[in-house]
Amino acid sequence: MTLEFKLRNQTEAGGRRAQLVLPHQTVETPVFMPVGTAGTVKAVPQDVLETLGAQIILGNTYHLYLRPGHEAIRRMGGLHRFISWPRAMLTDSGGFQVFSLSALRKVSDEGVRFRSHLDGSSHFFTPEHSMDVQIALGADIAMAFDECTEYPAERSRAEESLRLTMAWARRSLDHFRAHREEVVWHEELGGKTQSLFGIVQGGMYGDLRRESAERLVEIDFDGYAIGGLSVGEPREATLEMISEVLPLLPKDKPRYVMGVGYPDEIEQYARMGVDMMDCVLPTRAARHGLLFTSEGRLNIKGKKFAEDQGPPDPECNCMVCRRYTRAYLRHLMHSGEALSGTLNSIHNLAYYLEIMQRVRASLEPAPEVPSQAGSA
Ligand SMILES: [Zn+2]
Repeated sequence: MTLEFKLRNQTEAGGRRAQLVLPHQTVETPVFMPVGTAGTVKAVPQDVLETLGAQIILGNTYHLYLRPGHEAIRRMGGLHRFISWPRAMLTDSGGFQVFSLSALRKVSDEGVRFRSHLDGSSHFFTPEHSMDVQIALGADIAMAFDECTEYPAERSRAEESLRLTMAWARRSLDHFRAHREEVVWHEELGGKTQSLFGIVQGGMYGDLRRESAERLVEIDFDGYAIGGLSVGEPREATLEMISEVLPLLPKDKPRYVMGVGYPDEIEQYARMGVDMMDCVLPTRAARHGLLFTSEGRLNIKGKKFAEDQGPPDPECNCMVCRRYTRAYLRHLMHSGEALSGTLNSIHNLAYYLEIMQRVRASLEPAPEVPSQAGSA
């Protein structure tokens, strides 16, 4: 058994405190996963991610497939070794980027033909090919190949998209099961293998979401993700779709909501029973000068910070807040210095990871009351 999900406590609201045992790391959940698109969490070195307490990071299959190429990464010992990240990793299926970044897509039942956003070259992704690429990359968790339904989508369009995603889920798992032992660290880690998660789609239609969840559970994946959210829909719709799906997923397997969200959202979803989340927001916002703080969102470009000697967030104990002032961060941003993105990203990631740390602490099982030792 390669993925073990040890549920330690569940609250009445559904929040779960658990451990996700993966080949490279035992991950304490609920967990926030920083996004390392092209083999790097943009602007933040790996040792800093470790210091911040990141337990698992994402890699993007589409980007790594195009550059430097999955076969090159396999030859270099897999993604963990290539980027020097000893802890857990998850790769997406490439589907989301194929649909959002590439030009001239042509979707058929067989797969997706698309042109690279880098050089216009033509590529064909099928569920089987996505599995091969993800096995070459060798993250601890791989994702089934899916079509991310755009928002808004007519019901007929969402139905058709769901039909495709369900057929691709089956093909992904069949191919994955036949080849999962080809992962480069299989022998080194005592015969462990990667795990594969299925992805619930269905647009913003509750019944389609429920159908998607039920059918995926029947296929039987190692874990379940809810995809196709945070694609421009109102936040109530995101919440509604998550609420529809969570009760249908097995209690003894991890649940992952993809691509969310703002700090208050990740806390809210974790307390409802979501175990894993990822989002580019903390790092992307950071590079634009937006800091998430205990005092709310702070645009560090603001003139009022020009001589502000205070730390970015007075409540934060991260390495940036302990050392630097708002005035300095503003100066770096204004001067276009590379350090700007690094420091802003470190703080925002620290803020997100600290939220999850706090949520985990609050979900711990109540301490056992020591029983009165009866004297014999
Ligand atoms: Zn900080």
